[in-house]
Amino acid sequence: IVQWTPFFQTYKKQRYPWVQLAGHQGNFKAGPDQGTILKKLSPQEEKCFELLMKDILRPFVPEFKGQVTCEDGELYLQLQDLLSDFDSPCVMDCKIGVRTYLEEELAKAKEKTKLRKDMYEKMIQIDPKAPSEEEHRSKGVTKPRYMIWRETISSTSTLGFRIDGVKKADGTSSKDFKTTKTRQQIAEAFKDFTSSCPNAAVRYLERLRSIRATLTESHFFRTHELIGSSLLFVHDKRKASIWMIDFAKTVPVPENVSIDHNTTWKVGNHEDGYLIGLENLITIFESLVKD
Ligand code: ATP
Ligand code: MG
Ligand code: MG
Repeated sequence: IVQWTPFFQTYKKQRYPWVQLAGHQGNFKAGPDQGTILKKLSPQEEKCFELLMKDILRPFVPEFKGQVTCEDGELYLQLQDLLSDFDSPCVMDCKIGVRTYLEEELAKAKEKTKLRKDMYEKMIQIDPKAPSEEEHRSKGVTKPRYMIWRETISSTSTLGFRIDGVKKADGTSSKDFKTTKTRQQIAEAFKDFTSSCPNAAVRYLERLRSIRATLTESHFFRTHELIGSSLLFVHDKRKASIWMIDFAKTVPVPENVSIDHNTTWKVGNHEDGYLIGLENLITIFESLVKD
């Protein structure tokens, strides 16, 4: 269990601890305008936000208000604070897609054939049976092997998304979902997350369906590979909504390639599995709403 309080935010004269569920703490600050935050600039992410502000996905992403240079000389993106309009919000970050690294990152890892003892150690700590006999003998695994394996311990490779972090109404937060993998386990976590607010699951389901409908019409979505991007779930006693965030690893699909976000990923086809994850989120919330 971790408590993230990177800074205090002010909105409509209220002061509250801002909630950050992923990433490095130093990457975020309170924004100069009310209801905004600053995220450390990545040029790739800025390009995405510029395009998204002109795309039909705009209502589903935080408002982008341009670049800001801070006193420390660092560049930041000024974004709408999605928590501002909520009262003691519950927040959940789900990272979408069947992999969380770029094809380029895997290719780079494959160049290095050195056996990694540190990655072998991490592997046996989670699953002593994961390494092959050969890997056990050498007490090492290659980096690409580790990268691919890591996506199989959570629901990423099977369900096309994973829970990255949750903060509940009682103030407790957790990033302890590394091995939350089965549909059953995920459903339990969602039930727990929405337990203090009976309407949240129904609202979330509606929002997920409108995101799906809009994605199929979006030019941005058709032309980009979304890696490591998340859906941020936010609710309080009165309302619930979801936004698409984190486009630092969202890149244009190469010119001679086209993807449908729904086909099994094979090295080189650039499929991200975004719609696989969204579909599974929808069916899990449907099952919660039913009972
Ligand atoms: P990582 O790549 O490790 O996921 P990151 O540094 O790219 O992290 P984000 O994923 O964009 O950062 O955001 C980290 C967390 O900050 C999110 O899980 C969420 O809790 C919070 N956050 C990000 N953007 C917003 C926003 N616009 N409004 C409110 N909260 C946000
Ligand atoms: Mg993120
Ligand atoms: Mg990121």
